[in-house]
Amino acid sequence: MPIVRLDEATVRRIAAGEVVERPASVVKELVENALDAEARTIRVEIVAGGRELIRVQDDGTGIPPDELPLAVERHATSKLHRFEDLARLASYGFRGEALAAISAVSECEIVSRVPDAPYGARLLVRYGRPGRVEPIGAAPGTVVTVRDLFANVPARRRFLRQDATEAALIQRTLAALALARPEVRFELTNDGRTVLATGGSGDLLDALIGVYGAETATQMLRLEEYCAGEIVVQGAVGLPRVSRPNRQALFVLVNQRWVESRTLVAAIEQAYHTLLMVGRYPIGVVAVSLPGDRVDVNVHPTKREVRFADERAVAAAVYEAVRRTLLAHVPENPPPPVT
Ligand code: ADP
Ligand code: MG
Repeated sequence: MPIVRLDEATVRRIAAGEVVERPASVVKELVENALDAEARTIRVEIVAGGRELIRVQDDGTGIPPDELPLAVERHATSKLHRFEDLARLASYGFRGEALAAISAVSECEIVSRVPDAPYGARLLVRYGRPGRVEPIGAAPGTVVTVRDLFANVPARRRFLRQDATEAALIQRTLAALALARPEVRFELTNDGRTVLATGGSGDLLDALIGVYGAETATQMLRLEEYCAGEIVVQGAVGLPRVSRPNRQALFVLVNQRWVESRTLVAAIEQAYHTLLMVGRYPIGVVAVSLPGDRVDVNVHPTKREVRFADERAVAAAVYEAVRRTLLAHVPENPPPPVT
């Protein structure tokens, strides 16, 4: 076959796969947009593991009607205008890809109202084809509703797991964001049932209760803020007795982003050395802050992977923070369990 340029619709559909792998990635992108818009309350609703419906509602700054068509275009963003600004960027988004990707593989409705406008506007995009922007009555903020995700990408749809598994991944994603931002109120309903709710008081304990439940949250130890040069480690970890048989209840945050880092997870587990039985894993949230130019978040479109300028120093700081907290509360050589 000769070389030809792909048409825009095909390019979009291919590119969409990089950002939106599954319903949980849609939730992550939409909630991060709400956080970037300074929302104080974020409500997420999912039906059938997000396959049928994902709705994210915020009370943030909204999108002006004339900017709605741009919001769903690729590489259109209000957050980054020059590559040089990337290291200093405080927002979650900057690639301008999420809404374009999501609306290329779903029926995506955006209703938004900027707070000082008397009414809002609505834009419906069906599988990459935007309709017309229409005025509509709406509360200040933005509601994005995603229906029939991947209906036009059967291969991707077949790849999805059972609804309960997809819902659990969504809940985990929201838990991470709620722990990263205790000052924001989060709510998640799954098939009509509320499965996660935080109060938005700004107190980490409030977020821990919303994510883990009160009983577990009261068995967690607050990390004493630990500083190593410009690296700051905060958070809370579970007492050894509230360990889990998997790693699903441990969250690592870097500059308020939930990241995938084997190295940092290993550092945390190492801090529990001898305190946990083989096959048991710690729970908690470990939040690392460091200057933006010491970490690269632009490694992968989903931004779950990060690269540190000095990964060993970060891992050492994480280990120290967790180890010190545990040793202060748990005797170094715990007596053998009573048999
Ligand atoms: P990015 O977040 O990388 O900028 P997105 O495709 O996620 O790209 O969003 C495109 C633009 O749409 C954003 O830059 C922002 O201006 C606007 N936007 C998206 N979601 C919201 C929201 N919930 N509230 C206000 N503005 C939003
Ligand atoms: Mg975004």
